[in-house]
Amino acid sequence: MPRYSFSASYSPVGDLLVVSICLVMFILMLFSYNRRTSSFRIFLVTVATLVVACYADVAFNMLATLHKERFLPIVKVMRCVYHASLFIIFFLFVLYIGDVTQLNQKRRLRNTLIAGLILLVVVGVDVYDTVRGTSVVMGDDRLSFQSRGVFFYGYVAYVALILVLMTAVRKRLYRRVMLGFYGTMAMSFVVLLVQGAHGQSSFTAATFLYPMIGMFYIMHASPYDAAIGAIDSRGLEDTVKYNLENRKEFGFLSLYMHAFDEEGKSLPTHLQATIRRFATDFFRGAMLFQVGKGHWMLIYPIARNRNHEKRTKAMLDAFQAEYRLFQYDYKIVVGKSIDEVSRRNEYASFIRDIHRTIPENTVYTVGPEDVKRFNSNEYVLRELEDIYKKRDLNDPRVLVYCQPVLNIRTGRYDTAEALMRLKLERTGLVYPDRFIPLAEEYGYIHVLTEIILNKTCRQVRRLMEQHYAVTRVSINVSVLELKLERFCEDITRVIRRNDIPGEKIAIELTESMTDSDFILMKDKISQLKEQGIKFYLDDFGTGYSNLERIMGLPFDIIKFDRSLVVACSASERSHRIVNGLANMLAQLDYAVLFEGVETAGDETMCEGMSASYLQGYKYSKPVPIEKLAEYFEKEAA
Ligand code: C2E
Ligand code: CA
Ligand code: CA
Repeated sequence: MPRYSFSASYSPVGDLLVVSICLVMFILMLFSYNRRTSSFRIFLVTVATLVVACYADVAFNMLATLHKERFLPIVKVMRCVYHASLFIIFFLFVLYIGDVTQLNQKRRLRNTLIAGLILLVVVGVDVYDTVRGTSVVMGDDRLSFQSRGVFFYGYVAYVALILVLMTAVRKRLYRRVMLGFYGTMAMSFVVLLVQGAHGQSSFTAATFLYPMIGMFYIMHASPYDAAIGAIDSRGLEDTVKYNLENRKEFGFLSLYMHAFDEEGKSLPTHLQATIRRFATDFFRGAMLFQVGKGHWMLIYPIARNRNHEKRTKAMLDAFQAEYRLFQYDYKIVVGKSIDEVSRRNEYASFIRDIHRTIPENTVYTVGPEDVKRFNSNEYVLRELEDIYKKRDLNDPRVLVYCQPVLNIRTGRYDTAEALMRLKLERTGLVYPDRFIPLAEEYGYIHVLTEIILNKTCRQVRRLMEQHYAVTRVSINVSVLELKLERFCEDITRVIRRNDIPGEKIAIELTESMTDSDFILMKDKISQLKEQGIKFYLDDFGTGYSNLERIMGLPFDIIKFDRSLVVACSASERSHRIVNGLANMLAQLDYAVLFEGVETAGDETMCEGMSASYLQGYKYSKPVPIEKLAEYFEKEAA
């Protein structure tokens, strides 16, 4: 074996270290989840090219220092390969930047052309010199390199191109991501300078490595939640895209637990262990994604799980066994990839849409009708968004229906509840159960309330002008709205604009469970009560009624939910409980209203339970607010 030594200006340590770091990156890629974007593929080729460059550099320096005539051709080729690899990396950097910043085709083509041209010229000249034999010449005692400075010029040209590009696209990436890249590039320059100052050449390849570490860390590492092995929702989107492009069918199981839906609510360790186990034990090649708070989705390839129905059943059985232990409410949705949803890459919202329709603690299998409903909900959602953005308080798509309420003391109708409907071009009339949850989730609800309030006020004003005895009309307000800074202001402004007294309007609220909501409600109710606005507690008897808390709020009317009316007719015991509650509340000066009075039997029963008001189909279904006059009476002149 020939003994060899390197020239003083070169040591293989730099290149070998770079190779080992590249290998470390490959190992990490193998055992972690990586976003499989097209830029990831460019990145992979780039890392591989760097490994080639390093080995070529080591080989060329090693052989060059042997001073053997017969190695000369290999030295020349290796040197050429080394240079070409580095320039190919530069070229790939340019492609990469265009890809991650999603430049348009035209700009990408232009950049590719410029970068390709530089590549062609530099490598071309290098190859030409190599073939002609002028790149490396064997002198008497040493090799001499004649590079014509082409490497240097090529390097400078590429660095300039990349700097210009990075500046041009700086607005297209999140600022901190950009700073991350600038930082790694700055480090490369520092190394180049230090190396230059020492007449060194061992760390040239390393300067290419730093931006790649940046790419790996910033762009492609989408690390697992180390505790349960879940990947974030961006990972889900990439996986769906990858499967669609490669025509791979997949199955999914989605688990939602509302107990962990809130900020800061983390999974107890035993549940973490359960989910971790579920993610790996039942399906081959499955991946777990954290779609949202308290919401996970497991995706498995159908091809590798032919008996997936059996596996799904085994998993659900195991889940039931666990459920008996932990008892957190859940909603499970299972299904197979649906091209239409995959193309739009909307599994998260598709499943969320299903969650709205299924009860707690159920397992639901996705069917074609879900896609249909999802599509029409998407349409409703777009319309809601438009209504929200226009914020036209007379928006013709928002209709007010009203249900008159019987006042038992007078035997007349003098109040009513306003109920919202949407009238949309493609769907016709849409009922609240379809759009209120959507509007709440997307933050559009308050504008809808403003529109309903405005239209209600306008109609109340007309009734008053026509001398109808209208005591007040109530509107429904979502507890979420109370969190808005301007809530009270907005309500007051709409009422004032219509020039009616505040006491003609009431607000219905449902009870809420949390302490912070309680304080908020108390504050907002008190403020608006000063304007004469009355407050109803809606749906009493359906939530986790906390009497002590309810009585801490200055409500005027308690609306007993229809389910209580139904319960009363079903059992004597329920009847006694509800009767007792109603009597107690009446004694505490609350007015009691029974909702959902459908029959004469319901009516008689409710009248016997301290009711002040009755509302239900027995008297009227909700009618367009313009028809309310038919129920109200004119004031005695
Ligand atoms: P809610 O406030 O409890 O309204 C009463 C619901 O019961 C109405 O349904 C009404 O049509 C229905 N109903 C009335 N009488 C009877 C009866 O005798 N039997 C039965 N089975 N049902 C009866 P609707 O209009 O579909 O509204 C559903 C829910 O949507 C409302 O429940 C309310 O929570 C919400 N909602 C309606 N309009 C608005 C609104 O403008 N804003 C907000 N935030 N929510 C609204
Ligand atoms: Ca209501
Ligand atoms: Ca109600």
